[in-house]
Amino acid sequence: MSAADHCLFCRIVSGAIPAKKLFEDDIAVAFADINPQAPTHVLVVPRKHIATLDDLTEDDSLLIGQTLVRASQIARSLELSSEGYRTVINNGEAAGQTVFHIHIHLLGGRNFSWPPG
Ligand code: 5GP
Ligand code: ZN
Repeated sequence: MSAADHCLFCRIVSGAIPAKKLFEDDIAVAFADINPQAPTHVLVVPRKHIATLDDLTEDDSLLIGQTLVRASQIARSLELSSEGYRTVINNGEAAGQTVFHIHIHLLGGRNFSWPPG
């Protein structure tokens, strides 16, 4: 079985599992987090399956840069930029990573504060 078959975010990227998608192109997909920790909580993922930040190689430089640029464009389109917003990438279980397909959390919106709760 390939990552595309068993990885939750690969399955969201392919459309096999539904999600509230806010953006997609040939590089990245953004969708609403199912368990939001802020008024706006969006996940931005590269289409390519890469499990963690630790798995990045030099060859991924362009892809990960483009994904980050998309994250900033999506934040602007959701009007998060004027109030400020937080980006989080959890790397590894001890850091709270639960889905092993790199994703950038965008957290922001009205009355957003950190830490959540
Ligand atoms: P991590 O803990 O790996 O940094 O973040 C994984 C995120 O994925 C969590 O914030 C969690 O709420 C979100 N998540 C888990 N399963 C699903 C799902 O099926 N759909 C969506 N949209 N988000 C999910
Ligand atoms: Zn994946």
